[in-house]
Amino acid sequence: MIYLDAAATSAVRREVLEAMWPYLTGDFGNPSSHHTVGESAARALAGARAAVAQWLGCRPGEVTFTSGGTEADNLAIKGIALAAPRGRHLVTTPIEHEAVLASVDYLVRQHGFEVTFVPVDAAGLVSPDVFAAALRPDTTLASVMLANNEVGTVQPIAALAALAHTHGIPFHTDAVQAAGWLDLDVGALGVDALSVSGHKIGAPKGIGALFVRGRIPVEPVLHGGGQERGRRSGTENVAGAVALATAARLSTGARPAVAAAASRARDAFVAAVLAEIPDARLTGHPSERLPATASFVFPGTNGETVLLELERRGVVSSSGSACAAGSEDASHVLLALGYSDDVARTAVRFSWGADVSAADLAAVAPAVGDAVREVAGLGDRRG
Ligand code: PLP
Repeated sequence: MIYLDAAATSAVRREVLEAMWPYLTGDFGNPSSHHTVGESAARALAGARAAVAQWLGCRPGEVTFTSGGTEADNLAIKGIALAAPRGRHLVTTPIEHEAVLASVDYLVRQHGFEVTFVPVDAAGLVSPDVFAAALRPDTTLASVMLANNEVGTVQPIAALAALAHTHGIPFHTDAVQAAGWLDLDVGALGVDALSVSGHKIGAPKGIGALFVRGRIPVEPVLHGGGQERGRRSGTENVAGAVALATAARLSTGARPAVAAAASRARDAFVAAVLAEIPDARLTGHPSERLPATASFVFPGTNGETVLLELERRGVVSSSGSACAAGSEDASHVLLALGYSDDVARTAVRFSWGADVSAADLAAVAPAVGDAVREVAGLGDRRG
């Protein structure tokens, strides 16, 4: 079996498990406790925060640990918008993850915000000019994802954030899918808030982090004991924080040589799939994309059925965002890119980790061809 659904989740890395193990067993203390067991946990938490801050190029005090990407997005969108001194207007895109879209929807329904969705082009890119036109004097917050979870398109975040700043508007980016593959230095990106999630990079599910710059006020979403400087109450997930820090340190995909090799393997895989199935189309941007995501539409098929055929051939992939799995709707991302409802339902996404080689991918392409031909009724060439 080859696992090509890393955008949904990844296995916990052995080194990560080993790093977190002590904080689940002997060093299990509550960081708020005033005894040596608690102090040891507090030190581990501080160390993890410093490591995550180093990963993101920010100060430790600007990192809030959360239960994952969804909570980081909720805290960024609701927290910054509700605490902001100005405006009741949000700017985002129609291809964001549901964690952003539903948070925006909540602010519209419950707090009287207005929202402008900046359209994307057929490759899923946000044009800086179109983005600039959406900004208003009363805009409270702009949020655009760094890399899309379904089609892998990478946005020109530094340019978009700079435009928002010319109007004094704070800028959030969801970097959950970019993590592990792109440089997340918040200074270089120029963002004011950034969300990451551990389980996409080899840490367990249930840990994530939100960076918020300097003194930008954040209204908490969870109320309670005042942990995380009041931004996120709840006894801290010390082992999870250590895991996130360790996984971030181990992720090498953002190194130029590793990313370039991964992109070459991806391009060879894309070419092989397109050669197998002439009707297939790669979705998302041809070059401004994540190094290890390739998503296609296979007109004349059904994505869910192709998935089953692929799994019979030992290939595990996804028909769209796993977070929306089970939903009968066509992908909101593909619809926003201009695909018809019918074609959007033929989508299959392949996404993999740094442990998958070019040779592994080369072996998958014929299986994709067979699976798609089988579903399209053209027969399996293996007979
Ligand atoms: N944002 C993006 C772009 C994602 O792909 C995901 C998960 O797939 C999330 C947010 C949610 O992260 P989590 O699963 O940690 O809640």
